[in-house]
Amino acid sequence: MHVPFLDLQAQYRSLKGEIDAAMQGVIDSTSFIGGEPVTRFEQAFGAWLGVPECIGCGNGTDSIEILLRAFGIGPGDEVIVPAHTWISTSEAVSNVGARPVFADTLPRTYVIDPQSVRDRVTSSTRAVIPVHLFGHPVQMDEILDVARRHSLKVIEDCAQAHGARWAGRKVGTIGDAASFSFYPGKNLGAYGDAGCMVVRDPEIARRARMLANHGQIRKHEHEIEGRNSRLDGLQAAVLGVKLPRLDGWNEARRRHARRYDQQLATLGFDIPPRPVDPSAHVFHIYAVEVADRARVAASLRDNGVDTAVHYPRALPELPAYRDHGLSPQPCPVASAACARVLSLPMYAEMDDDAVDFVCKQLNGAVQRTTAKSSLP
Ligand SMILES: *Cc1c(COP(=O)(O)O)cnc(C)c1O
Repeated sequence: MHVPFLDLQAQYRSLKGEIDAAMQGVIDSTSFIGGEPVTRFEQAFGAWLGVPECIGCGNGTDSIEILLRAFGIGPGDEVIVPAHTWISTSEAVSNVGARPVFADTLPRTYVIDPQSVRDRVTSSTRAVIPVHLFGHPVQMDEILDVARRHSLKVIEDCAQAHGARWAGRKVGTIGDAASFSFYPGKNLGAYGDAGCMVVRDPEIARRARMLANHGQIRKHEHEIEGRNSRLDGLQAAVLGVKLPRLDGWNEARRRHARRYDQQLATLGFDIPPRPVDPSAHVFHIYAVEVADRARVAASLRDNGVDTAVHYPRALPELPAYRDHGLSPQPCPVASAACARVLSLPMYAEMDDDAVDFVCKQLNGAVQRTTAKSSLP
């Protein structure tokens, strides 16, 4: 048996007729940029989230950057981001000329630690970007509380959490603004790069829409200078076919996660606490922690199980942030987690046999490596 980390082909096979027709429709109408397919997806995604408007753009990284610009955040400003996330979150902050300040994360759930956010606030802090990492919602009440006290903007990074919920509300509808990525491997993925933004304040929303399209709402009426970061018609059409399936796919991920949890607990793995609300977590990633990760991963690969690592090092430890100015405050929890996390196969189309096989192989791999490392 071979279990891939992700199987985008299986998903395509289940939708081939509809996807092909939707893409052919865009080609026939030549609405490659903007136009009806994009408007239709923006409306559908907004309705699914329960917000009045969402704004398509080129990718998730751009969406964070454009939101920061729309809020007027730039040189001299600090933005608090978690130390454990994909680099886009902090990169976007640097790209607008502001300074990313890394907050530590919580053990076992890996999301940003609200106490660490409180500790990092200075008179220059303008915003915080909670990342619903792996599909697990951040403790938004605490983040909103810090933000209220210090007048910070809250930009939710929902790239890994389409459909996750905090206190019953979908993530992306809780802060001042939210960023979504539709990178192919995300819970809702396009067939190329794509992203979108959600903004609570209609004036800021208008600004974000302009920034993403050369500072214009209507053609040739450039109110400001912006950039070119647009959702294209083919991506919008693919996303439009997939969106009605997203809730079902998230439910399948939760089912696989429950099965992993049960089996791995029986095998003696330490399973993190799961949210009380079963619909809160969308398991973009199912991670376990292991000692000697490289050996465990190699052993799994030899036995037919592909894995990945999200992410091998906490951001402040990367070369990109070595000369980051002020001595970085340590993020020991994030650093320790990044040294141990291993992401197991997770995609809606997996079946129970695949989950069972992964658990069995993981157990074997851990036992083999433990035996090896205890040799003199
Ligand atoms: C994927 C991702 C992004 C960026 O999305 P792209 O569409 O690849 O630019 C941002 N933040 C997080 C946490 C992500 O996982």
